[in-house]
Amino acid sequence: MLARAGHRCEVVIVGVRCTATLGLEAHHVVDLVDGGGNDPDNGRAVCRRHHRLLEKRGS
Ligand SMILES: [Zn+2]
Repeated sequence: MLARAGHRCEVVIVGVRCTATLGLEAHHVVDLVDGGGNDPDNGRAVCRRHHRLLEKRGS
């Protein structure tokens, strides 16, 4: 999953992709409690900062 992402944060905001390469974490696109799987298709490599934002938006 991280290799697919090129070891870069996959978040794109207004057409500009985040350039963060450090502190990448696995974000579940569909949360596990909502029926999401642990497979790569449900995973996004995101930097720590964006992971926080994504989790906040989701709940
Ligand atoms: Zn990012």
